[in-house]
Formats: sequence, structure tokens, C-alpha cells
Amino acid sequence: MLKVRTRIAPSPTGDPHVGTAYIALFNRCFAHQHAGEFILRIEDTDQVRSTAKSEADILAALRWLGLTWSEGPDVGGPCGPYRQSERSDLYSREIRTLLNSGHAFRCFCTSERLSSLRAQQIQDKAAVGYDGHCLSMTSEQVAACVAAGTEHVIRMRIPEEGDCVFLDMLRGEIRIAWQQIDMQVLIKSDGLPTYHFANVVDDHHMNISHVIRGEEWINSTPKHLLLYQYFGWVPPTYCHMPLLRNPDKSKLSKRKNPTSISYYRDMGYLPRALVNYLGQMGWTMPDGREMFSIEEMTTEFDLSRVSLGGPVFDVDKLTWLNGKYLRERVSDDEFIALFRDWAFAPSKVARIVPLLKDRVDKFSDVEPLAGFFLAGLPAIDSACFTHKSLNTETMRRILQFSIWQFENTKGFSRDEVENACLLLANHMALKIREFLFPLFVAISGKAVSTSVVDSISILGLDLTRARLRHAITVLGDISNKESKLLEKEFQQFSGAGD
Ligand code: GLU
Repeated sequence: MLKVRTRIAPSPTGDPHVGTAYIALFNRCFAHQHAGEFILRIEDTDQVRSTAKSEADILAALRWLGLTWSEGPDVGGPCGPYRQSERSDLYSREIRTLLNSGHAFRCFCTSERLSSLRAQQIQDKAAVGYDGHCLSMTSEQVAACVAAGTEHVIRMRIPEEGDCVFLDMLRGEIRIAWQQIDMQVLIKSDGLPTYHFANVVDDHHMNISHVIRGEEWINSTPKHLLLYQYFGWVPPTYCHMPLLRNPDKSKLSKRKNPTSISYYRDMGYLPRALVNYLGQMGWTMPDGREMFSIEEMTTEFDLSRVSLGGPVFDVDKLTWLNGKYLRERVSDDEFIALFRDWAFAPSKVARIVPLLKDRVDKFSDVEPLAGFFLAGLPAIDSACFTHKSLNTETMRRILQFSIWQFENTKGFSRDEVENACLLLANHMALKIREFLFPLFVAISGKAVSTSVVDSISILGLDLTRARLRHAITVLGDISNKESKLLEKEFQQFSGAGD
């Protein structure tokens, strides 16, 4: 019988997302329930946006949640390497197969031609996509261009008519007309593969039997299946999971909810409660029980019972469940140990103490000065923001620009945070002291505390973002219209500052 092998295939281009953990959990349960393997592959084909830090954070976050894998870039395995950037030879070899069989072709179209084609298609209200221009080149013309070193990409052929029909484990038959499918680029002009190509080649070479992933990939599945057909490979079974939603049913986004797993870790949630909550996304235990471990979920798992009705990730419900775990499942001794590990992580404390030592005479002075390092959102109201020269609107601008600037900052070291603040203060023609005032209040709840730049760097982006956003709400919030204007202004000067 076919061995069940599933995978999570994150792209290391941002924070470790709760959506990744949700998909990982369901993949892991499915594999383990069938005595199979759950593996982790890093999809870093986007070399511009992929970072080593993001990869490390994603691995650490999934491990923290207990969503361990049996093969991956850190643990190795028989199908390695497990990082796509290290598998280029394989992609080069496989693309030659498709070029030789004529299922893929070289495309020399310039970006100017492609943009004017697109503009024309939009104007004509026609389907937007590649028009097959280079398919009419003779093999001599192609060979001459290649010999001359002309820049080009490699695309896949797509049938001109008919439908792609496939079975989804949750949705049954899905039918998508080939006319809706673009002649996807498989190899970019730098010789590296696109997601679609690398993903299929790797799923095949890693013997993935079931692809369980988010529903945003449904429209890509025809291309993937066609590649399997071109290669003559047996495709995996597909299952597209419903996307997580905000309580207002919109797609889960960090604008409305914290989406980074690190945020929940830093706020002091228990990993077992977060995993348990993710297990309730579109799924219930057969006996309706609310508290369950990964192992219990694995035993009872039945993928076909996942409901498609847009699971809502509701922070209040997660918080309630977390509290229930603390009250009912954590002994006093365990509480002490867990709390100590969370509050006094050596790497964090080692950075806080130097900020405090000069300013305290006794230990009881510590909490008033630095208690905010252990807090969630500080208890603040608009009166806390009273200032002699800054008005509310300016403070909201400072806070919003800071969120965006910090999100754009590559690292989060003290100097990087400071530079971000200096840049913004300069743009807003404010003295740095004035600029930092609303940040002090938002971060520490007080106008005076330990250095705010250091504090932000120690708290990290997730807690900082949450506190700055909370402060904006306290200051009357930013309307959608105002936010759009601010975003435009921010883009202008942040782009110019590069
Ligand atoms: N790298 C893709 C992602 O980040 C994986 C999609 C898939 O599972 O095929 O979501």
C-alpha cells in the first residue's frame, strides 16, 4: 500500500503565521493517523523575499507548538536537501525533460511587451495572460537566441480548450477551464524555478502522497496536475483546507488580528492551548470535547469531517481556552516553571538588566520601572498622551508610521529601531524627543521608562505592533480613508529613503 507522506512547505518570507501551523497540524495528524511521515520543506524560490531569519523563526515556532517533522532542513532525511534553494540541479535536469518533449518552451518576450499586452487585454476586457507569442518561433530561432545569451524564461504549454477536472478530498470534483489558466513561467530569467515548478518536482521526488494545503491554491492545481501528466508521474491526492478568517469573516490578516505565532508565545499563551485551538478550526472531536492534545486529535482524526464553512480564528476564544488550560490542566508547580521560563528567559533578562541597574536602588523599584516587559497591553487612556506640543492626530501618525517602518526594518536590533525612529522623526520634522513621546506611552504605559528604543528592540516586533495599535485605538483610531492617505504618504517617503 502507498505510504502516506504529507508535508508543510512554508516560504520563509515573513513571520511564522498561525495559518501555517494550522495546515501543519492537519497534515501531521493525517500522516500520523496513517502511520505515515510528516515532513517539512522550505520553499525559498523567492530569493529576494526569503530570509534565513524567517526560516529560523518558522521552524522555532512550529517546534514550540510541538508540530515536529521527521524530515526537514534541520533534521535531514532520505529525500534531502529540504530547502529548494539547494535543489537547483534537480530543477535544471527536470526542465530539460519538458523542453525536450515540447511541453515547455522558451519565452524571450521583454517585460515591455508583456506589460503592453496586459494593458491591451485589460482595455479589451479580455482574459489577462500570456498570448503564446514565442510558441511560433522556429527551433533555429530559439537556438540562435539561446546562443546569443538573450534573456528569457521557460513557460509551460497549456491546452487551448477543455477543462481540467480533479478530485479534492473535501470538495469532490473541481472543474476549471484551461482557458482560465496562464502559460505559467516555470523557470525565471535568472535560471531559478518558480514556486509552481519546484513545488511539483519536489512533491514527486519527496514521494508526497497527499497535498493538504490552503484553498488559495485551488486555481494552481490544474497547472500542477498538468506537470505531473507531462512528466508521466502519478499525482498526489489533493485536499484544500478552508482559510482561517477574522471574526468578521474576512480573510485572517494581521491588520485585524495578530497572526504571528511568535506574538502568542511572547504574550504568554501555552503552546498546547494554541494547538488545541487550531485543531478546532473546521474540525471537532467526534464527542464534541473542547480540550484535546495533538495525540488525541491524531487518534480521532478524520479529514473528511473538516467543514468548509470558513473557520474563524477568534483571539477571545483562544484566550478563554488558554485560561481554562491554566486553571484546569496546569498544576501550581508547573505554573511556576512555565511562568519562570516565559518571564525570565535568560536572553531577554540579560538585555533588560543593564537598562535598569543605574535607575533602581532596590528590587522593589524594578516593577514600577520595568513591569511593562511582562505585561500584555498597558492600561492607558487618552489622558496619558497629554503633551504640550503634539496633538492627537500627529501622535496617531507617529504610531502608524512607526508600525509600518518597523515592519519594513530587516532586523530589530537596538540600532535598527533607533534608525527607523530617526528617519521618521526627520521626515515628520519633529525633534526625536517629541517623536518618541507617544511611543513611550504606548510601549510602557508611562511617559518615562527605560529607554524606549531598547525596550522596543527587546519586546520585538509582535508585541510592539500590538501595543502601538492599541495606542492608536486609544487615541480615537484611524479611519479607512485616513489610513489610505497615510499609507500613500508613507510609501512616498519610505521609497524615497531607500
Ligand atoms: N510555499 C507555499 C506556501 O507558502 C506552499 C503551498 C503548497 O502547499 O503547495 O504556502
